[in-house]
Amino acid sequence: MKKGKKLYEGKAKILYAAPEKGMAIQHFKDDATAFNNLKKSTIEGKGILNNRISEHILSSLNQIGIETHLIKRINMREQLIKLVEIIPIEFIVRNIATGSLSKRLGIEEGTVLEKPLLEFCYKSDSLGDPLIAREHIYTFNYCDEKTLDFITKQCFRVNDFLQGMFKAIEIKLVDFKLEFGRERKEESGSTVAKTLIADEISPDTCRLWDATTDKKLDKDLFRKDLGNLIEGYQEVARRLGILHEQSNISPIKFTKPTAVKIKKNK
Ligand code: C5P
Repeated sequence: MKKGKKLYEGKAKILYAAPEKGMAIQHFKDDATAFNNLKKSTIEGKGILNNRISEHILSSLNQIGIETHLIKRINMREQLIKLVEIIPIEFIVRNIATGSLSKRLGIEEGTVLEKPLLEFCYKSDSLGDPLIAREHIYTFNYCDEKTLDFITKQCFRVNDFLQGMFKAIEIKLVDFKLEFGRERKEESGSTVAKTLIADEISPDTCRLWDATTDKKLDKDLFRKDLGNLIEGYQEVARRLGILHEQSNISPIKFTKPTAVKIKKNK
């Protein structure tokens, strides 16, 4: 499929125009970043694994009626997606306390939450994606109340589904991030908007721990220098049944991460 002009480049993906109106091509890069871009590296094969894992998860969600932007995977690194207007909020669902939740509130790492917790972060690199309340969303018009209620329900449905999917392969779904977008379509003379899951769902956006050993199989391998990221992602793909043993993705080639520097917000 012929790619059109570059529409947007993010930390891990590039969006290109697709031949058909209302669609785009999402390209998965090998770049890894953490701590709001302060730690960076290129990890050969990461984009291929995320493309494949995210395709598997999003197409499973599509199949059970949770609509996502995914149309189809087109090659090793690219997917054809519906072009949506991204709602500027990261929706974080947590089942087990760790990461920024533990840091922020002093909750012991690994504490199983009585029920899943949904958090909202405002998508802004320059502000470091700050945690916000529902009221901020309404006050600043990031999303209307009806859409937010729908998204809240979708987040918990996705959590139920993914928890089951990962439990079956002996993986704990600790937490994850979802993004949503609005797809606008002309239907019999008027514009209708639909809210879809966008971006990706992969070990870059989820925390995944082995059910028995709590071994990390996600981006924390990179964030905290816990081990080889490709081996962790390959393990997830293998258990999901989407990666054959003879994969040619090398687990050893990666560039040295750059040093962490403290960036001051202006
Ligand atoms: O860092 P924190 O504990 O808030 O992350 C919660 C979850 O959201 C993790 O699974 C992390 O991978 C994901 N996340 C993300 N993109 C961000 C921030 C968090 O995918 N910008």
